[in-house]
Amino acid sequence: MAQTQDTATAHIRNFCIIAHIDHGKSTLADRLIESTGSLAQREMADQVLDSMDLERERGITIKAQTASMSYACPSGTIFQLNLIDTPGHADFSYEVSRSLAACEGACVVVDASQGVEAQTLAHVHTAMQLGLTLIPVVNKIDLPHADPDKVIAEMEDELMLPREEVICTSAKTGQGIAELLEAIAQRVPAPADEAQDPCRGLIFDSWFDSYLGAVCLVRMMSGSMRRGERLKMMSTGKTFEVVKICRLTPKAVDITTLQCGEVGFLAGSLKHIADLRVGDTVTAAAHPACEVLQGFRPVKPMVFGGVFPLDGGDYPALKDALEKLQLNDAALAVEPENSGALGMGYRVGFLGLLHMDIIQARLEREYCLELIFTAPSVIYRVFLKDGTMISLENPARLPDPSLIERLEEPYVLLTIHTPQRYIGSLIQLLQERRGVQQNLDYGLPHSSRVKLIYLLPMNEMIFDLHDRLKSLTSGYASMDYEVSGYKAEDLVKLEILVNGEAVDALASITHRCVAQKRGRLLCEQLKGHLSRHMFQIAIQAAIGRKIVARETLSALRKDVTAKCYGGDITRKRKLLEKQKAGKKRMKAVGNVQIPKQAFLAILNRDDSK
Ligand code: GDP
Ligand code: MG
Repeated sequence: MAQTQDTATAHIRNFCIIAHIDHGKSTLADRLIESTGSLAQREMADQVLDSMDLERERGITIKAQTASMSYACPSGTIFQLNLIDTPGHADFSYEVSRSLAACEGACVVVDASQGVEAQTLAHVHTAMQLGLTLIPVVNKIDLPHADPDKVIAEMEDELMLPREEVICTSAKTGQGIAELLEAIAQRVPAPADEAQDPCRGLIFDSWFDSYLGAVCLVRMMSGSMRRGERLKMMSTGKTFEVVKICRLTPKAVDITTLQCGEVGFLAGSLKHIADLRVGDTVTAAAHPACEVLQGFRPVKPMVFGGVFPLDGGDYPALKDALEKLQLNDAALAVEPENSGALGMGYRVGFLGLLHMDIIQARLEREYCLELIFTAPSVIYRVFLKDGTMISLENPARLPDPSLIERLEEPYVLLTIHTPQRYIGSLIQLLQERRGVQQNLDYGLPHSSRVKLIYLLPMNEMIFDLHDRLKSLTSGYASMDYEVSGYKAEDLVKLEILVNGEAVDALASITHRCVAQKRGRLLCEQLKGHLSRHMFQIAIQAAIGRKIVARETLSALRKDVTAKCYGGDITRKRKLLEKQKAGKKRMKAVGNVQIPKQAFLAILNRDDSK
């Protein structure tokens, strides 16, 4: 409830919006910013919070951003409402949790025509655990097929949000927006007043700005910070001078002090990107606080893949780009990798496939790099006969099978919300993916939606399960998952050999029952992408020493003239020169040329079909 005493933080409200993708979070944020007059009308482009082109295209808010609004309530009191934007996809629940850590309240937005989705449920659960005050919002009530009563009942049953607290809005027509602003001011608690305590700020987002260098978003939890002050990062001990503090409206407006309870943007004399870490506590260098703030849930990457420049000369540029992305994205793990087939590159850890897609797209678009991505892999546990255990992120590095006692793979507990009519095809899909049903909940009597819970190998999920689910259900089903531990399985390493040489970039770990089928497919695909040589080429799939599939690419016909032979040599020479010039697209494995384009085509994750 609203504070009546006049403390330093009494009129500050920090809140975020939790919503499933497309339920109207960005549009609602626009309406709030617009109706508090935080931006002049002409500055109001649609969806101001989604600044990256990529986000607009995908309709997903990737990076959390914030907007400070000045709201005058009917009684005349002025509140500072700080909206902290959150991303909406399952892969990004870590970003949601770090945004939640900076708030006292959250608006839970549900589409009046769609109802509660799996991710909304997951985020609401996290917000409740953090003790946030929740404001239930039913949006899009202007739609002809909106059914607010049904959705209100669902929110009450599934999210435990009381119906009398629900606010109905239309971000399109503006209906209910004034009521929502008032509810935020009246219901969300003010931040704790710890203005007299030592300066402590929670870094909940950071990125690299080409003008300002490393910058971060900070929520002041206690004390305050001034421009010109020396600050210290509590985890690394690095100190720096604050040269710029801004409030985001969401346009950056310079301020001199960031007060307790406020949210703002900092830039300073930070030389190294690595010195700035999301989740860290920033304090005054002269009078440092003793205790760090409890950050949000730490995150571990779940899916790993190799990233290699198409042109070897781009390696330094790739290194630089990954470092900058890492600053912006605490969940991204990066390690150098050397591949026989693809040269120097990096092994990168992602939270999930969507995260991987976005990083790939950003590397290619924002940094203009031409890249090859190897097939994603989960982390396997390899138990060796000598009693040691290895966490394996790269299938190519699996030790010799004779040394291995057993192999374990990670499982996920998958929750799917779907309209009843798709249940049959979804169950079939999940069975094909080695899933085991845990629960099938027909839910509310008046609801047409069903909740399916499956235990599934994570490896089966990372290959396009989300896409398949969406296409089978015309986009109506949603999924969320949590990691649920490891299980021993009959797993084997599948290798692809070209004239007897293993191609490391194509090695994978699969279940024995699908290994041969997959091997056959890979051989066929590779054959289709290789050009014929002067000699016969054998393309084989092998499990250990056993060959399980084979394709043969016959030699070029022998009736070529001597002249042609000569021509061929110069052509080869030209190719070598081109490689030096950084334009080469061929890569040698043993004595066979495998064009990098072949890897591009084969490593596309659709190959699981
Ligand atoms: P987000 O993914 O949660 O950020 O959702 P968006 O704000 O991008 O909205 C998704 C789509 O729903 C967009 O096409 C919006 O124009 C539309 N939309 C959002 N709110 C409303 C609303 O209240 N009524 C109607 N009719 N459409 C809305
Ligand atoms: Mg959005």
